[in-house]
Amino acid sequence: MKNRIERFAKWLDQETIDVAILTSTENVFYFSNFYSDPHERLLAIVLFPNAEPFLVCPQMEEESAKVAGFEQMIIGYKDTDDPWEKVFAEMKKRTSGSIGKIAIEKSHMNVERYENLRKAFPSVQLIQAEEKLDELRAVKDPAELEKLRKACELADFAIDVGVHAIKDGTSELAIVAEIEYELKKKGVEQMSFETTVLSGAKAASPHGNPDLTKVQKGQLVLFDLGVIYKGYCSDITRTVAFGEIDDEIFHIYETVRKAQEAAVLATKPGMTSANLDLTARKIIQDAGYGEYFTHRLGHGLGISIHEYPSVTETNPLVLREGMVFTIEPGIYIPNRVGVRIEDSVAVTATGVEVLTKYPKELLFV
Ligand code: MN
Ligand code: MN
Repeated sequence: MKNRIERFAKWLDQETIDVAILTSTENVFYFSNFYSDPHERLLAIVLFPNAEPFLVCPQMEEESAKVAGFEQMIIGYKDTDDPWEKVFAEMKKRTSGSIGKIAIEKSHMNVERYENLRKAFPSVQLIQAEEKLDELRAVKDPAELEKLRKACELADFAIDVGVHAIKDGTSELAIVAEIEYELKKKGVEQMSFETTVLSGAKAASPHGNPDLTKVQKGQLVLFDLGVIYKGYCSDITRTVAFGEIDDEIFHIYETVRKAQEAAVLATKPGMTSANLDLTARKIIQDAGYGEYFTHRLGHGLGISIHEYPSVTETNPLVLREGMVFTIEPGIYIPNRVGVRIEDSVAVTATGVEVLTKYPKELLFV
């Protein structure tokens, strides 16, 4: 936590920014280890180039923030207080009153808060903080990697539960329920996103919703899920066969598997996002399914399920040790079949660590 705050403070100093006010749950957690969704109430961490940060939260949450490990000052407020008054007063104290530039999360701050800020500091320059925050959060430290490993281990377990729940007469939602029931018993409080189980042609829609559709023999079943472990998200997709499937479907599966495995093997520091995407895309294109791979290869993950970097065929971003993202090529043929295979991976000093480990050879249930 201390290192993260120091690295961010250094950037504030370099950019001559006097103060940063961060209000997203994710970035507050990143710097404080306190994870809270305050809904409409104000939750913020306020950071300075050369002074200690402070946290502002509803008074009833002060104790939880301390327990989470935030050791600096916490300003609690009651529902009848104006928290901004307290924040601005403390900011002025820590900057000896002269504030020319304030960094904020422009894509997160709402207009009401923006207007509050403008009223208190009419001539201040507002700086976009997200780019720097993305860059910092993209490279995971050993403690973060450890949590991600554990989150991925639980995701592997979840896939296994799902695979074993496939049987005649069972619906997609019943399988979802089975998976989440077993996870809850293991202490998982929250999924990274809504657990997806799609069968047959429904899997041809990459963001389809599970419903009471019954799984049928001769079809593929696609699982896409992830869990949150100590604030960190995992993400895995596996596609399995229920009974015998026809040759073309098998060929499509094998094409996705080859593309996915080639991209995993190619991952190393120094390579660009674009080249990684194209490693997989080329295999799918060469097999004649290029037009059916309709999304990017992957996305960063960590505190958020989708975060920086985006692994697309045009992103020149260079991969660095410690970056964690997904590799998830797919082929979706409308009204017929959908296959996706997804791993969460971490870039190491020399190559890649695959965090999700469930087998990828086509499984016949
Ligand atoms: Mn994903
Ligand atoms: Mn996924």
